[in-house]
Amino acid sequence: MTAADDCVFCRIVEGELPARTVAERDGAMAFLDANPLARGHTLVIPTAHHQHLQELDGHSAHALYELLHDLVAVVEESVGADASNVAFNNGPAAGQEVPHVHGHIIPRFEDDGGNPIHAVAGTPPELSDEELDDIAADIADRA
Ligand code: 5GP
Ligand code: ZN
Repeated sequence: MTAADDCVFCRIVEGELPARTVAERDGAMAFLDANPLARGHTLVIPTAHHQHLQELDGHSAHALYELLHDLVAVVEESVGADASNVAFNNGPAAGQEVPHVHGHIIPRFEDDGGNPIHAVAGTPPELSDEELDDIAADIADRA
């Protein structure tokens, strides 16, 4: 998909909006989050505009994951982090505000008062073994 005129991340890709770019590759780039949740909070995006991860073609998906993979250790080391949360808000119901795929690398520090990724979802469902079996089978059939 080509750039979307009303997308801030497409405008960063096009050089029309400034960003603290930390890496650029064929098909992906990374820059600091403008409202960081931690020192070094970095966003990694495919350069092509798509809202959802599942809409990326193979080239964009590979470029995105490769850059994410390469940057995790670099970002952690650069800010002296002890760990990181690496996550995508994939769709508005999951909290996505910018409708252009982006992975967050959020450096974490011992005793920083934050939460694990388990804190992002709502009330956990109570599922029987049978329901879990059905869900696993449905996903496996489609995978
Ligand atoms: P989302 O909730 O969509 O996963 O996160 C969007 C992220 O993009 C937020 O953390 C927000 O601070 C960041 N952001 C929004 N607009 C801009 C921008 O123009 N430049 C940069 N560098 N980050 C932005
Ligand atoms: Zn975009």
